[in-house]
Amino acid sequence: MTTLADQRIGRMEFLLNLRRRGIADAGVLRAMDEVPRDQFVRDEDIEAAYADQAMPIACGQTISQPYVVAYMTERLAVEPTHRVLEVGTGSGYQAAVLSRLAHVVVSIERYRTLADAARTKFEALGYGNIEVVVGDGLKGVPERAPFDRILVTAAAESIPRALTEQLVEGGMMVLPVGPHDGAQIIVRLTKSAQGLVRENFIAVRFVPLLPGQAREL
Ligand code: SAH
Repeated sequence: MTTLADQRIGRMEFLLNLRRRGIADAGVLRAMDEVPRDQFVRDEDIEAAYADQAMPIACGQTISQPYVVAYMTERLAVEPTHRVLEVGTGSGYQAAVLSRLAHVVVSIERYRTLADAARTKFEALGYGNIEVVVGDGLKGVPERAPFDRILVTAAAESIPRALTEQLVEGGMMVLPVGPHDGAQIIVRLTKSAQGLVRENFIAVRFVPLLPGQAREL
């Protein structure tokens, strides 16, 4: 059994580990501290909620590793006025972290079951600036575009054109790029009048970005 004291120590170590691994942005660390990851994992995983690991969630998907959530969020350079699109709601954890930093977050998920569960959690936590949409995130959310920032949390084999089109000029998109069964890297694209500037960052492993809304609930 874990006591409240154990939980507090777990959450302190969680933050210390993020700092030790190089997460330095005060706003990102505050957001990671504020969002209770234990609310976003399966009941049977609650005791390990603050371990730095990805974990299974419903529909065969995963909640990302905290370090990777913090890393991608830091690379995204979110400001309080920003409208952010997240592709791949999953557990809702990454959207919750973004919501602490942005003006509004629109998050799109291809599984209705995951989208509904995430919405319920946001309501319970009082995170009122997140809108969850069910659909194919490869197409973005044109009716809510443009976005200042876009974060994709499933691996893309190539850069989805519809998404870069929904970015404002000066906007940024961070996403894992690479084959579904192989080495992927975090890429940041910055949109300017001249086109997209690409920067490559760390190696990662994400579930695939798949076309279409999921047929199974
Ligand atoms: N951000 C999530 C990570 C979930 S894993 C979290 O913090 O828990 C990635 C998610 O992307 C999965 O739930 C998967 O169903 C979803 N996904 C994959 N392709 C998609 C697409 N084309 N549109 C929307 N969601 C997609």
